Amino acid sequence: MDVYGLMGNPVGHSLSPPMHEAAYDELDVDARYVTFEPDDAGAAIEAARTLGVRGLNVTIPFKEDALAHVEPDDLAARISAVNTIDFRDDAAPTGHNTDAEGVRRSFERHDVALDGRTAVVVGAGGAARAAAFALSDAGATVRIANRTVSRAQSLADDVPGATADGLDALADLLADADALVNATSVGMEEDRSPVPKGALHGDLAVLDAVYRPVETRLLREAAECGATTIDGAWMLLYQGVAAFELWTGQSAPVERMNAVLRRRL
Ligand code: NAP
Repeated sequence: MDVYGLMGNPVGHSLSPPMHEAAYDELDVDARYVTFEPDDAGAAIEAARTLGVRGLNVTIPFKEDALAHVEPDDLAARISAVNTIDFRDDAAPTGHNTDAEGVRRSFERHDVALDGRTAVVVGAGGAARAAAFALSDAGATVRIANRTVSRAQSLADDVPGATADGLDALADLLADADALVNATSVGMEEDRSPVPKGALHGDLAVLDAVYRPVETRLLREAAECGATTIDGAWMLLYQGVAAFELWTGQSAPVERMNAVLRRRL
């Protein structure tokens, strides 16, 4: 039996175990998916490798620390964060960032084209970095707005052609934008939005990385303006789908994983 898992702290309420185990069940993969709350990313990765763990997802607070203990692929290196580790053979573990794939495939699932479009990312933390690179790699021009402008600037410095502003620029930035990603934690288990409703419009496709609640205030207000809305469960689903496919080499049973995820949210 193969062992996969998630390391982070806390991971008690993670939806990854039921989502991945539903995929193993659907495809008759002989595997289990377990959670770990280590103190130290490097020691945990080394222990997992020694014990023969096949793959690890990585979440807060270890996504950046993990980078130093794996061989990152190009995208993870550019994002400077790893959320998926592949322990293959005896080679050094490789590090990947499937949060970016989660953003890309969420837009794709909703038939939103990104090439040649303008996308606004709110936030400059880990999720925002993944979103900004995903959007840029898909051909969009990226505008970053963050509470702390210096953090927006350092992200914009890394993403080709990106600009940086504070949250007060959101109305101007969104006026001619095609896509919006909320990659802040604003709206998580609270009825708040990081974007004033007056800045939203019907030509936007809005992805909220926050998935608790599934319908955030931002998405509710975006829908009221006639925008296309994409909830954070899609991003969560597709980062898991990408990890499953990387580890097993099989196409993931996306609809089964989605059903299990949404039943739990
Ligand atoms: P993070 O690295 O801690 O970044 C947090 C971001 O939120 C920063 O840009 C921060 O701005 C901003 N922020 C926090 N409180 C704020 C406030 N009161 N007003 C304005 N901005 C505020 O966190 P993260 O890992 O990027 O995660 C961000 C969100 O994305 C979380 O809700 C997380 O659950 C979600 N997420 C979802 C998925 C998914 O698969 N759906 C994947 C990853 C993350 P400053 O820089 O000014 O502090």
